[in-house]
Amino acid sequence: MSVVSSVCCYCGTGCGVLIESDAGKITGVRGDPAHPANFGKLCTKGSTLALSAQASGRALYPELRADKASSRQRVSWDAALDHAAEQFAAIIREHGPDAVGFYISGQLLTEDYYVFNKLAKGLIGTNNVDTNSRLCMSSAVSGYKATLGADAPPGCYDDIDHAGTLFITGSNTAFAHPILFRRIEAARRANPEQKLIVVDPRRTDTAVEADLHLAILPGTDVALYHAMLNVMLWEELIDRDYIAAHTDGWEKLRETVREYTPEKVATICGVAAADIVQAARWFAAGPTLSMYCQGLNQSTCGVDKNATLINLHLATGNIGKPGAAPLSLTGQPNAMGGREVGGMAHLLSAHRDMNNLEHRAEVARLWGVDSVPEQPGKTAIELFEAVRKGEIKALWIACTNPAQSLPNQKLVQEALQAAEFVVVQEAFIDTETVQFADLLLPAATWGESDGTVTNSERRISRMRAAVPPPGEARPDCRAVVEFAWKLGDALGRDGKRLFPYTCPEDVFNEHRESTRGRDLDITGLSYAMLDAGPQQWPLPEGATTGKPRLYEDGVFPTRQGRAHFYNAPYRPTAEPINAQFPLHLNTGRLRDQWHGMSRTGLVSRLYAHVEEPLLSMNSQDMQRRQLHDGDLVRVKSRRGSLVIKVQASEELRGGQVFIPMHWGGRFMAGMGVNALTLDAVDPVSKQPELKHAAVQVEKVTLPYRRTIMRRGDGATLLRLAQPYIGRFDYASVGLTGRDNTVLVFETASVGPLPESLVQEMDAAFGLDDPLLTMNYQDARRGIWKKARVENGVITGARLSGETAARDWLKSLIADGAPAMEVRNWLLAPVEQPPDGQVGRGRIVCNCLNVAEPDIVAVIAGGADLAALQSTLKCGTECGSCVPELKRMIVTNRVAV
Ligand code: SF4
Repeated sequence: MSVVSSVCCYCGTGCGVLIESDAGKITGVRGDPAHPANFGKLCTKGSTLALSAQASGRALYPELRADKASSRQRVSWDAALDHAAEQFAAIIREHGPDAVGFYISGQLLTEDYYVFNKLAKGLIGTNNVDTNSRLCMSSAVSGYKATLGADAPPGCYDDIDHAGTLFITGSNTAFAHPILFRRIEAARRANPEQKLIVVDPRRTDTAVEADLHLAILPGTDVALYHAMLNVMLWEELIDRDYIAAHTDGWEKLRETVREYTPEKVATICGVAAADIVQAARWFAAGPTLSMYCQGLNQSTCGVDKNATLINLHLATGNIGKPGAAPLSLTGQPNAMGGREVGGMAHLLSAHRDMNNLEHRAEVARLWGVDSVPEQPGKTAIELFEAVRKGEIKALWIACTNPAQSLPNQKLVQEALQAAEFVVVQEAFIDTETVQFADLLLPAATWGESDGTVTNSERRISRMRAAVPPPGEARPDCRAVVEFAWKLGDALGRDGKRLFPYTCPEDVFNEHRESTRGRDLDITGLSYAMLDAGPQQWPLPEGATTGKPRLYEDGVFPTRQGRAHFYNAPYRPTAEPINAQFPLHLNTGRLRDQWHGMSRTGLVSRLYAHVEEPLLSMNSQDMQRRQLHDGDLVRVKSRRGSLVIKVQASEELRGGQVFIPMHWGGRFMAGMGVNALTLDAVDPVSKQPELKHAAVQVEKVTLPYRRTIMRRGDGATLLRLAQPYIGRFDYASVGLTGRDNTVLVFETASVGPLPESLVQEMDAAFGLDDPLLTMNYQDARRGIWKKARVENGVITGARLSGETAARDWLKSLIADGAPAMEVRNWLLAPVEQPPDGQVGRGRIVCNCLNVAEPDIVAVIAGGADLAALQSTLKCGTECGSCVPELKRMIVTNRVAV
C-alpha cells in the first residue's frame, strides 16, 4: 500500500488528505493531521472520497460524433485532438477568434487553469474564457477590488480563534464548509465569550448555533449593513483614527447611511431594530471576523453586498489584525487558483486588469506574443447567450456541468443544442452536459492529477496523483497543451514555443514568474517547498514563509495606498414577488452532496441524509394550500417549472421556499432546480442571481405512483434510469444503502402506464425474469407488483399503483436481508411487515450510520449532546451532524 498527501476536491476549505492506494486503486482516504486547514479532520464528503474514487461511471475513451444526429464513437486521442484543432481553426479563420469560447471550472488545478487561459488569450487571441467561478466568487472578487484594491482575502482560518465576534452572513457554513464550522465550534468552546452572529433568511444549522440570528428577507443585506453602520455612527463605535489614516470615501458613505436607521431598515429586512443594534455593537466591539459565501455573491447586487460588508470592517478598523478581517469562503476547491492566473473573461494573469494597457503589455511579454486582446470576453451567461445566437460557434467545456448548474436551463440547453461544435472534457460519462458533446475527452480527476490548488485563506497546497487515470483518461493540462500544439500548427502559429511544458511543474514555474512584484507574488515558492507543506501567498523571493494576514500596516494595493469606502444604495432582488408568483425561492447546499452530484451522486451513503429532491416550505404556507408532507407540487417561475415533493420546514419563514441546488435533470424529471432560477446578473461582477426567484407552488394530482428498487452498481443503475426520467410528470432517481447500493426510482402519473413501457422498464431493471421474480397483479385496481429474489435474498422490486411497502422493502434490499421471513408480505399493501421490520428512517450521522428515530428516542429519554454521543456515538467521527443533533435536542425537548 502507498500513501500520498493531497487535498480534498470539494469545497474551498481545502482540507489536506492522505490517499491510500494499492495496485493502482484508491483504497482509503483520511484527513492529513499535518495540514493546517483541517489538522486531520474531514467532513462526510471528504471522508467518502475513496468510495467515489472507486465508483464506476467514468469517461474512459475519447468519443466523437460525425454529426448531431449520430451517436459518438470511440476514437484515438490523436484523432480527437486533430479533429478539435481542425474545427476550431476553421471557425477562427472564417469568423475570427471571438467565435470560439471556453467554459472551465473552479475545480481545475491552477496549472490547468493557466494553460486554458494562455490558450485562449495568448494563442487564439480571444478573452472568451470564463468559468463556473462566475457562479460562485465573482462578486467577492469585485467586492475586494472595489474596496481593498486587490482580490485578496485578508484573513486566515486562525482568525476564528482570535475573534471576539464571528459574523457569518450568507453562508450555511455548517453544510457548505463543515470543517471550518468544526473550528468555529472549537473556538466557541474555548472562548464562551465569543459572539456568533448569523445573517441568513433561513434558520439553518449554522443559524441555530448563533447568539444572534438575523433572518433577513431575501436580498436585503445591503440595507442591513448600512443600518449597522448607522448604529455605529450614532453610538460612536467607529474607529475615526483608522478611517482618517487608511481610507477614503468616508464622507459620502456617511451621508448615505444616515438614511438607513435601524427602525426603517427593520421593515426592509423583516427583523427587529433592536437586533440590528445588537449586531452593530458586537461587530464594532471586535475583533470581528466576517465569513460569507453565496448568499452575498449569487445576487444582482452581489458586489454591493460584499463591498458594504467590507465597509463595516474599514469603519471599525476590523482588518489587518488577529481575529479581524473579511474572509470570503470560496465555494470550490480552486476558485482562488483560477483567479490567480486570471482565468476569467475579464481578468489577466496574476491579478492584472484587462483594461490596463501596461498590464496587457506585461502579459504579452511574459507569454512571448505580440499582444493580448483588449476587449473583455463573454462571461458565463453572456457566453451561452452568444452560443445560442450563433455568435460563438465552438465551445469547449471542461470539468463543469453547465446543463445542470447554470440558471435558466432552457436557454443553456438551447445554446448547447445550437452550437456548431461542443467539446466536453470530463471525468464522468453521465453528467447532464455530456449528452451535448460532439467530442468527449476523458479527463483524469482527483487522485489522478498533479498540480496545485489555493484555498479560501490563500493557502496553496499540492494536489497529487495517487493512481493512474482509468482507460485512456488524461490530465486536463496535458490534453490542453497537446491541443494547443495542434491548433498552433493549424493556424500557422508556434504552439510548441508557447506551450513548452513537459509537466505541471513547468507550468507552475511560469505562473510563478508572472506574479513577480504583484500582490500575490509567489516567486519564493516552489514545488519542493510545497512538498514540505502548504504555504499562503504572498511569498516573494527570499521569504521563507507565506503571510497569514494582509494589510497589517494599513496600506492597501490602491493608487493612494488607501482602502475605499463603497457607497451604494440598497436595491431589492431582481425579480419581485407578485400575486402570480408570490413566493421567494432560495437555493443552496445539502450537507452531504456536492454541486451537480457527478461525484457524490455515485456514493449511496451520501443520499442517507437527504435521499430525494424536496421543496421545503413553511408549515403555515403548506396548511394554507392544504398540502401535506410528501404531496407533489408544481413549482413554477417565469422561466420553467418542475414537479417535486414538498416537505414542511421550520427553517423557513412564511412566504419562502427552498430547493437544494444539486438536483439536475439526471435525478428528477425536467431540467432540475435551475429550470426555475434567474439569469439576471450583477452589473459589475456578472454573477447571476441564483439565490432568488419568484415562484408559485400548486398541488398536482398524479395518483398513479410507481417505485422501482434495484440492487447493483450505482452508476450503472443511474444510467439505466436516464431514458425513462423524462417520460413522467414526476420522477425522482437516487441511491440508498450502505454496504449495498440500491437504486430508488420513483414516478407518478395520472394513470397506469402503457404495458409496453412497463415491460420495457422491467426488462431494463432485470425485473422480467419469471424464474427469479414474484408477481402480483390486480388489473381491476391497476396494481401490479414484482419482487426479484436471488439465492434467498431480495435484490429488486417494482411497486405500481400502490407503494405502501416502499420504505421497508428498500431497507430489506439494501441490507441484503433474507426473503424467506417476509416472503408472504413482499407484495402486500402494508407499510410494515407483521414482524415489525421497518425502514430505519433518515440517517443523521453518516459516518456511524445512526438514524433519526433512534436519536429522537434517546433524546426523549432526557439525553443531552454528551449523553447522545456516548449512547449512540453519533457525531463523534467527522462531526458534520453535530449542529443537527443540537437542533434535534432543542426541538424534541420543546415537543416534550
Ligand atoms: Fe472536503 Fe469537507 Fe474539507 Fe470541504 S470541509 S475540503 S468538503 S473535507
